[in-house]
Amino acid sequence: MDKTRISMTSPIVEMDGDEMTRVIWKWIKDILITPYVDLKTEYYDLGLKNRDLTDDQITVESAEATKRLKVAVKCATITPNAARVEEYGLKQMWKSPNGTIRAILDGTVFRTPIIVKGIEPYVPSWNKPITIARHAYGDIYKNTESKVKKGSKAELVITDPDGNEKRLLIHDFKDSDGIVQGVHNIDSSIASFARSCFNFALERKETIWFAAKDTISKTYDHRFKDLFAEIFENEYKNKFSDAGIEYFYTLIDDAVARVIRSEGGFIWACKNYDGDVMSDMLATAYGSLGLMTSVLVSPDGAYEYEAAHGTVTRHYYSYLEGKKESTNPIATIFAWTGALNKRGELDGNSELCQFAKDLERASIVTMEEGVMDKNLSLLSKLENKKIVYSEEFLTEIKSRLDKIRS
Ligand code: NAP
Ligand code: MG
Repeated sequence: MDKTRISMTSPIVEMDGDEMTRVIWKWIKDILITPYVDLKTEYYDLGLKNRDLTDDQITVESAEATKRLKVAVKCATITPNAARVEEYGLKQMWKSPNGTIRAILDGTVFRTPIIVKGIEPYVPSWNKPITIARHAYGDIYKNTESKVKKGSKAELVITDPDGNEKRLLIHDFKDSDGIVQGVHNIDSSIASFARSCFNFALERKETIWFAAKDTISKTYDHRFKDLFAEIFENEYKNKFSDAGIEYFYTLIDDAVARVIRSEGGFIWACKNYDGDVMSDMLATAYGSLGLMTSVLVSPDGAYEYEAAHGTVTRHYYSYLEGKKESTNPIATIFAWTGALNKRGELDGNSELCQFAKDLERASIVTMEEGVMDKNLSLLSKLENKKIVYSEEFLTEIKSRLDKIRS
């Protein structure tokens, strides 16, 4: 057996997680990966118990390892709230692991749907995926805001390093009570966002758009536009023309119109708020959380792959009661194939890349032949559907993988 398994020259970072996805994680490895690949990973257990045990140091270490090894695969993890603190008897309400990892890698999250015949998007022309990237720093997410009483005056005051003050009138509330808010962003974060976006476009060989509202916000949004343009011009223009892809800026209104009329197959980079709203719109329009992949890309080219969905808590508790659950493993499988393919690319390991492609193909063929979980079957237009439990889903994929690889 071992002789025929694909070997890896360097490891990937493996971040284990929680609940139903932790159960599926092991099944995916046992059924679909280790029989074919002599898997090398640096294992970090980000399960909530171990995060608590290590005072969340394990999360920091896994992110540092990702910086070093450049490729990671992550299982969904619980972000604790008050109920989880009680359920797990936690020392404290640990921060979201995804937030911690993103901050350390200074990365951007890209979400891409998996396209399957029979699961039609709500927009019929979208026959290719649209990837959305959200800048995850600043703007209204780090705002300062206040109610204002009639008769007050609101000003923007900037104190420079020498103590000089610049005052700009926001509004004179002569006639009515009102509201005011202050927002900011920083050049270094915008630049990291731009670089992650351009790297990812090169990675997927897809054109990328960035959209904002610079016609109205002539300094703030314009700064985003200018930084994107400058970085593209100086660092990426030639690489893009070699790859046969484009970058362009457009007004957010125009971007929305173009997205709806498009056939997909591009990357859409958004400011924080636009990305928050539009990523939910795209996820819903493509149909299923179980088919949404996610990758965190750092500006210096580290990649962390995961499913966009959470730990599927309801299924887990039902599984613990001994009931069989129908959880879709596809997005988690694609996190593994994304990471293995990237490792293969970086190491010049074409066998590993081919395996990743074969496993993706087998997963898609399985669903296109009507084998799927319950939630997906509700969306599928196929006539003959076979609803399977999670583990069965994996063995169905395995039988098709063996056919493809024989
Ligand atoms: P969720 O785990 O994504 O599940 C929400 C619901 O969506 C499920 O109950 C299920 O619906 C359906 N669903 C999601 N993934 C599915 C799959 N693979 N197959 C079939 N159905 C699927 O979101 P949540 O319930 O809001 O969060 C649960 C936990 O996950 C929380 O502790 C949260 O902190 C964590 N979370 C982690 C991440 C991450 O690590 N990136 C992301 C989001 C949430 P039905 O119950 O109707 O079958
Ligand atoms: Mg949102």
